[in-house]
Amino acid sequence: MATTKKSTKKVETPIDERETFVSLQKNFADSAQSVQDKLRLLYTLQAADNEIEKLVLRRGELPAEVEALETEINGLQEKVARFKEAIAESNAKIEESKKTMVEHDAEIDKYQRQLQGISNSREYDSISKELENTNLLRQIDQKNLDEAKARIEDLKEKISAVTDQIDIRLQDLAAKKDELDVIVSSTAKEEEKLVETRNSIAANLDARTLSAYDRIRGSVHNHLAVVPVYMGNACGGCFNTITPQRLVDINSGNKLIICEHCGRIIVNPGKKD
Ligand SMILES: [Zn+2]
Repeated sequence: MATTKKSTKKVETPIDERETFVSLQKNFADSAQSVQDKLRLLYTLQAADNEIEKLVLRRGELPAEVEALETEINGLQEKVARFKEAIAESNAKIEESKKTMVEHDAEIDKYQRQLQGISNSREYDSISKELENTNLLRQIDQKNLDEAKARIEDLKEKISAVTDQIDIRLQDLAAKKDELDVIVSSTAKEEEKLVETRNSIAANLDARTLSAYDRIRGSVHNHLAVVPVYMGNACGGCFNTITPQRLVDINSGNKLIICEHCGRIIVNPGKKD
């Protein structure tokens, strides 16, 4: 087989998204590129993709944290606005109470003066009753005024507490934004370089192999399509034991071995040449 695979006339069958391991293995064997080279390229491709993923992850949490802080600060600022509205309402109540107080004071004055010039006991009783009622109303005015003032004091304390909270969150936000800026500007170059490296590795692999790699990567939770042997005899992806014969094949580097449990490609990275 080694002597016939140089042919460039070979007709590529279309890549099947559900390509079987057997057809992939056949493609591996039936290729101008050695299996060892392919496996090595796949392993370095996986390493580059891991680095890219780490960068994205590092940055990935910060934008969400910045957004959460902004939302929290907005909520706190709305709270302050509502407290200020309530203060304005209480101030209106104070003004209203002061106005009716003046009116009631004038009435009380009037009744008291009237009482002094009265000899008729029936009229005296009637005015006394009015005076008593107005005094009660005057007390209600005072009570309303005191309550409104107490409410304003309470609201001012609440505003002060929330404002302190806002100040702390604003500091947190500024720090997070700085952190994000630093990471974005520093990782942008790093990421660009990694993507370049990744693409140059990928350029050396045929479309079918790349498609299989992407498919396996997409189907496993940690995005590791190519894994090394773990602890001498287990799959580095799912940690299931590898049978001795398959282990020999992996260590030889001459055969594509896919884990029968998790579907990942198992390689022996120590085997460089
Ligand atoms: Zn496995």
